Amino acid sequence: MPNIQGHALNDSHYIGGLWVEGKSYFKVFSPTDGKNLAEISCGSAENVNAAVIAAHEAFPFWSSLGAHGRLPYLKRFADEIGKRKDAICEVESCDAGILLSRLKHGILPRSMLNITWFAEAALNLQDSTIETPQASHYLKYDPAGVCAIITPWNAPLMLTTWKLGPALASGNTCIIKPPELAPLSSALLAEAADAAGLPPGVLNMVHGNGAATGSLLTSDPRIRRISFTGSVSTAQEISKSAAENLTPCSLELGGKSPFIVLDDADIDLAARTGALMYRNATQVCLAGTRFLVHKNIYDQFVERMKAYSLNLKVGNPQNESTEVGPLINAKQLEKVKGYVNRAIAQGAEVLWGGVEHDAGALFYTPTMLSNVNQNDEIVQEEVFGPVLVIQSFQSDEEAILLANNTKYGLGGVCFGETKRALTVANQVKTGFIWVNSFGIRDLAAPFGGCKNSGIGREGGNWSFDFFCDVKDVILPKTIFNPSFAQR
Ligand code: NAD
Repeated sequence: MPNIQGHALNDSHYIGGLWVEGKSYFKVFSPTDGKNLAEISCGSAENVNAAVIAAHEAFPFWSSLGAHGRLPYLKRFADEIGKRKDAICEVESCDAGILLSRLKHGILPRSMLNITWFAEAALNLQDSTIETPQASHYLKYDPAGVCAIITPWNAPLMLTTWKLGPALASGNTCIIKPPELAPLSSALLAEAADAAGLPPGVLNMVHGNGAATGSLLTSDPRIRRISFTGSVSTAQEISKSAAENLTPCSLELGGKSPFIVLDDADIDLAARTGALMYRNATQVCLAGTRFLVHKNIYDQFVERMKAYSLNLKVGNPQNESTEVGPLINAKQLEKVKGYVNRAIAQGAEVLWGGVEHDAGALFYTPTMLSNVNQNDEIVQEEVFGPVLVIQSFQSDEEAILLANNTKYGLGGVCFGETKRALTVANQVKTGFIWVNSFGIRDLAAPFGGCKNSGIGREGGNWSFDFFCDVKDVILPKTIFNPSFAQR
């Protein structure tokens, strides 16, 4: 059994309420110091099949409980997550490289809320009715069945609970396939579900890599929903296999979001917020990574943001004062270096950074590149590392054109006088955009992307719409008279 900073972890799958050892194992490494943290069971076809059977067998009881019946189970689940808060935060910081301070003060409490908020919101899904002169329409949110939940390494705890909350609350049973680069907090989530007494089979977990284990899940016809967050290329693979069975997918994907600064913006506030984009080494889907700054204030903005960016504390994510942690692995570091080197070869200028950081083998200095063209790879592609680009514009129309000119459409940021910034924000083609702010989220609000950033919305009732089959039960108000002339 692996032991991470004094926290013992189960290295097995969790299937039908039992810990099931795999026949083979994969290694998990710390991005901070490269240490081998654990060897975790690798899911086989047999494991996936057992998990699907367990989830199917658990479905009739779990779905029949109703939202009121499920509420106490899910509250206990959240409580058990809370009881393990130190272990979960420390373990996730170790294997995903996420800042411990953010995990403790932001992500962990939010993850508990992901479970309890949806458990309570599901109570309101019951018994809605549309009355017409002809009939009563009783609307039912029928849980879809067994759901596959597949998440990326950059936010495993937050995203797994964000999907599990509404799926379980609305009566589905789930199989999670944790990200193979950062699977350890999921083991503690399964332990919390077990301790909370969730009936066996309601929550199952099968570890393994995407192409082998994940694809067995997403191509299984017994899976009735796939909730996926990750890269565009994986989403395309999943969509193809899901199409065989017409399994509905929710796809939350990458981004290259614009960060627009108008010439009447609070420059200091915009620059301070801009430096926040380096948090988690910019391995954050919703970060603004393309800076579009009005020509009139460009130099002032660059000077301020440079000062804030060079002041950031890069280092071990376990230190409470660290602001920028490591990249996830050597492959990601090479990818980041490749983007920067190719951009420089194409004429980009390094305003700051542009080199590895001496905090460790996988650290890269917060970087800003200018003198780039709209069609350049560095402007168009998601780097997923602490490398931002900056361009200037002369009119709001030009800013909107540049903002919309990539294949992505996840999020955005716009700083400026409120009315003008709102006008610009309304014309940016993304799933969400923050005005004079960044990162404000609410569980009731929709989250998702346009274009290559995804299909569907999660959050609030959008999550329930995805995880349920909405059914209309129609009862006429007068004696029904069958006729071929009816609509
Ligand atoms: P990834 O697509 O490589 O992997 C994501 C998950 O999919 C992993 O659990 C992996 O094992 C699994 N997987 C891979 N191939 C599979 C297959 N063929 N079938 C089934 N499952 C498969 O993504 P990643 O590198 O882990 O994460 C980074 C990406 O995630 C970035 O593009 C980032 O922008 C995106 N992301 C998006 C959001 C959002 O909400 N929009 C949030 C976080 C991350």
